[in-house]
Amino acid sequence: MTVTNKRIYLSSPHMGALEQEFIAEAFATNWIAPLGPHVDAFERELAEHVGIGGAVALNSGTAAIHLALRFLDVATGDVVFCSTLTFVASANPVLYQRAELVFIDSEPQSWNMSPPALERALVAAEKAGRLPKAVIVVNLYGQSADMTAIMQLCNRYEVPVIEDAAESLGATYQGQASGTLGKFGIYSFNGNKIITTSGGGMLVSDDLAALEKARFWATQARDVAPHYQHSEIGYNYRLSNVLAGIGRGQLRVLAERVNARRAVFERYQAAFAAVAGFEFMPEAAYGRSTRWLTALTVDQKRCGVTAVEIIAALSEQNIEARPVWKPLHRQPLFEHCAYYPHDVNASISDRLFANGLCLPSGSNLTGEEQSRVISGVKDCLV
Ligand SMILES: *Cc1c(COP(=O)(O)O)cnc(C)c1O
Repeated sequence: MTVTNKRIYLSSPHMGALEQEFIAEAFATNWIAPLGPHVDAFERELAEHVGIGGAVALNSGTAAIHLALRFLDVATGDVVFCSTLTFVASANPVLYQRAELVFIDSEPQSWNMSPPALERALVAAEKAGRLPKAVIVVNLYGQSADMTAIMQLCNRYEVPVIEDAAESLGATYQGQASGTLGKFGIYSFNGNKIITTSGGGMLVSDDLAALEKARFWATQARDVAPHYQHSEIGYNYRLSNVLAGIGRGQLRVLAERVNARRAVFERYQAAFAAVAGFEFMPEAAYGRSTRWLTALTVDQKRCGVTAVEIIAALSEQNIEARPVWKPLHRQPLFEHCAYYPHDVNASISDRLFANGLCLPSGSNLTGEEQSRVISGVKDCLV
């Protein structure tokens, strides 16, 4: 294989200058355990960075959602609302707690949870005497949902909000950090996210007592006793001290990573400005997106090619592109769940899934690599 055919990934890890030093420190002090000084420091530094009371470092973003649901006492027979246009990890923890899911559509302006759909779902739930125990709002592809509208609705019905900010660390909503506007926020440091610890997550909140409880459950719910004593179900969910060291290094370059991803987006936007039928995910006026992934819709009637055909053509050139998330209300796993579309006659997420395309967007994508992607796409258009 020639160098020019080197694989281009959708979103690959991008290490900074300090991660190795933090890892070396963990080795030198033999803190190769879950917990340790890097974990404490990573929690403190992340909470400071996003401007929130506290944080609990965990081994995944999924674990963070699970602990938030557990704190909100979600259990058998309860209902939880969740954005439909997302990765399955947003909803799986609801199943761990044996509760029922109701999915909420996207709005066209931000591709995130539709306030009108949420309102209809809340009205119906109140009528049925089954208000949700929580609403999981996903901030898709680096952009915050319209949190003012969503929080107003949820506050009216006194339903707590969990912000799934796995994809939006570094984004803002009206000047506030994405992930800090609900009762709980969660971040992910999986390998494909804007910063990574290879695997990891964070639960954040201003409710420090809630975070203390989450920390307790995440370490096998060990009671205070010299022997091993347990009165509640616990989990092994904490982050290792070595990986927290990587996270500390990554956090220091987060702002740079955001700027690099936005620059990647801008270059795609300029390159395809003249293509009829390409429409980029809009950036809502209320905030700043990280453009974690450059996402767009492809109108076959206007440009003569489908998103699926572009993905296949890029794949032949060893370039990874993807459709947008398949909506969860379309997944076999959730086929019995209720769904509220944006408009009674129009499901936005279904349209986005049918036409959506995510292009390689890594902060370490070189100019040459991006040129390859751009030519690969343009070759499909003739
Ligand atoms: C990645 C992701 C998660 C899960 O994070 P993990 O750390 O992989 O468990 C949850 N929600 C969304 C929207 C994600 O993209």
